[in-house]
Amino acid sequence: MHPFTYAKAADMREALNAGWRGGRYLAGGTTLVDLMRETVERPGMLVDISALPLREVTVTERGGLRIGALVRMAEAAAHPKVRVLYPVISEALELSASAQLRNMATIGGNIMQRTRCTYFRDVTAACNKREPGSGCAALHGYNRSHAILGSSDDCVATHPSDVAVAFAALEATVHVLGPGRGTAYGLRRLPAAARQHPEPRTGPPQG
Ligand SMILES: Cc1cc2nc3c(=O)[nH]c(=O)nc-3n(C[C@H](O)[C@H](O)[C@H](O)COP(=O)(O)OP(=O)(O)OC[C@H]3O[C@@H](n4cnc5c(N)ncnc54)[C@H](O)[C@@H]3O)c2cc1C
Ligand code: SF4
Repeated sequence: MHPFTYAKAADMREALNAGWRGGRYLAGGTTLVDLMRETVERPGMLVDISALPLREVTVTERGGLRIGALVRMAEAAAHPKVRVLYPVISEALELSASAQLRNMATIGGNIMQRTRCTYFRDVTAACNKREPGSGCAALHGYNRSHAILGSSDDCVATHPSDVAVAFAALEATVHVLGPGRGTAYGLRRLPAAARQHPEPRTGPPQG
């Protein structure tokens, strides 16, 4: 086990500042702790975000749904508004993982989880995603559940989230709060199906 520090963020500002300093967010921990045990991920700082006010499911003015990043998978699946307005989300969640995991895991953690590519989780294998420039063992290895479309010569992994498929089909938007370019924290809206990563961090958050 590699040593790391642990801190619990009391509010968004604390969480964003800690994230900017290299902290990794800990929500339900069902993916991150696994990866730390396997030494695939070695964060120096864990930032527990469970106290942040991101646990609501609300109906928007235009009849859409806003699902907070800390809503548990099981809570989102069982929510009456989700069931009635967007049953595909409930169905995708209920087909995911196990009841125990769904009780612990969050929607934010689900869409931010790392790939299930076997080689990514094997620290002895070449994997550009884990170790940029090391190669991709999946290209000529076991790649039965890898991508056929939308891949590259560097990586053929798929995103492992089931509910992300529903979000993409519904043309959902992911709201991401991070350091802004000017004086305040920036809110970015990304289409769930977007391939590009959020812009790199350019400086400490202010305001
Ligand atoms: C045995 C097993 C089977 C599984 N089967 C399925 C399956 O069939 N379908 C499926 O979809 N998933 C499956 N999963 C994955 C599971 O859904 C994820 O582990 C879970 O959703 C992650 O949520 P979490 O809250 O525990 O995230 P964490 O483990 O706490 O975090 C995961 C990642 O997301 C980041 N993160 C978390 N929250 C935020 C946030 N609000 N903002 C920014 N970054 C954030 C963390 O820093 C970390 O990198 C399985 C997992 C296991 C262990
Ligand atoms: S497909 Fe290749 S680069 Fe991508 S995660 Fe798997 S081994 Fe790594």
